[in-house]
Amino acid sequence: MLPFRSRPQLPSMTSPTTPCFAVLGQPIAHSLSPRIHRLFGAQCGIALDYRAIELAPDALAARMAELHAEGLAGANVTLPLKELAARECVALAEAARLSGAVNTLIRHERGWLGDNTDGAGLVADLRRLGVRLADARVLLVGAGGAARGAVPALFDAGIGSLTVANRTAARAAALAHDLQSCGDIATCGFEALGDAGRFDLILNATSAARSGHALALPATLPAPDASAYDLSYGTSAEPFLAWATSAGIARRADGLGMLVEQAAEAFHRWHGVRPETGAVPAQLRAQPQ
Ligand code: NDP
Repeated sequence: MLPFRSRPQLPSMTSPTTPCFAVLGQPIAHSLSPRIHRLFGAQCGIALDYRAIELAPDALAARMAELHAEGLAGANVTLPLKELAARECVALAEAARLSGAVNTLIRHERGWLGDNTDGAGLVADLRRLGVRLADARVLLVGAGGAARGAVPALFDAGIGSLTVANRTAARAAALAHDLQSCGDIATCGFEALGDAGRFDLILNATSAARSGHALALPATLPAPDASAYDLSYGTSAEPFLAWATSAGIARRADGLGMLVEQAAEAFHRWHGVRPETGAVPAQLRAQPQ
C-alpha cells in the first residue's frame, strides 16, 4: 500500500524572517501579482516570498483556513474567488463590505480580515493618467464585482454623476440599489445607451472580450475631451480601446496601471509602506513574463 500523503506544506511560510504572501485564483498561472509584489519588496527593502496558488471555488474555504494555520502573512484574491472569499473572512473593511468582494486578505490572529483595493487602485491610476474626476459625468459599463468595487471609490473621488450600463439591466439596478449610500446611480441596459447622454469618462468593467465578444457601444457617448479606460489589460482591452479610438476619444488606457495600483494598496496594508508605482507598468509591458 502507498503511504498516505497529506497536502505538502509550503516550505517557508512559517519562516520568522521571510513572510510569505500569495495570490489565490483559477486560473492563476498568468498572474502578474507575484512579479509586482517582488518588485515592490525589492524597491522598499522588504524581504518577502510571494507565490501563486491555483484554487477551485469549492476548495477556497478550507484552503483559506489551512493557509492561515500554516502562517501565510497575507494574500490577494482574484477571479473567480472574490465574492466567496468575502464570506470566509472574520471581518470586512468598508470597501469590501460595500462591494461584496475581497481582493486582499490581511492576517489577524482569529482569521482573515477582508479588504478590497480595486476601487482605490482604479482611482489612483486614473489620477496618474491625468483624468479629471471632479464633477465628471462617468459611464461605467458592467455591473459585476469589479464595477461594484469601483463605485464607492469613484464617488469618493468627487465625480459629478454615474450611469451604470449592463448587458443584464437588472444586475445594474441591483448594483445601484445596493450601493445607494454612495450616491445617485442611473442604470440602463445596452439598448438604452443611445439616449443616456454624453460622458467625460467611459469605463469598461465587463469581461466581454475574454469570451471573444465586442461591446456594441454607440459612437455618440463621449463628451468633448472624454477619456476611456478598460479595467482589463493587454489583448482583452483591445476591442474596447479600438471602439474608443473610432469614437474619437484621444485619452485611452487599459487596466495594467490599475492592477499595479491595487497591488500597491494591498502592499501598504500589509507592510505599512506604499511603494512607488510610476515605473512599474512600463517595466511589466517591457517584459511581459
Ligand atoms: P464579473 O464576472 O463579476 O462581471 C462580468 C461583467 O461583464 C458583467 O457585468 C457581465 O454582464 C459582463 N459581461 C460578460 N460577458 C459579456 C458580454 N459578452 N457582453 C456584455 N457584457 C458582458 O467580472 P469582474 O467584474 O470581476 O471583472 C470584470 C473585468 O475587470 C475583467 O476583465 C477583469 O479582468 C477586470 N478587472 C481588472 C482589475 C485590474 O486590477 N486591472 C481588477 C478587477 C477586475 P452580465 O451581468 O450581463 O453577465
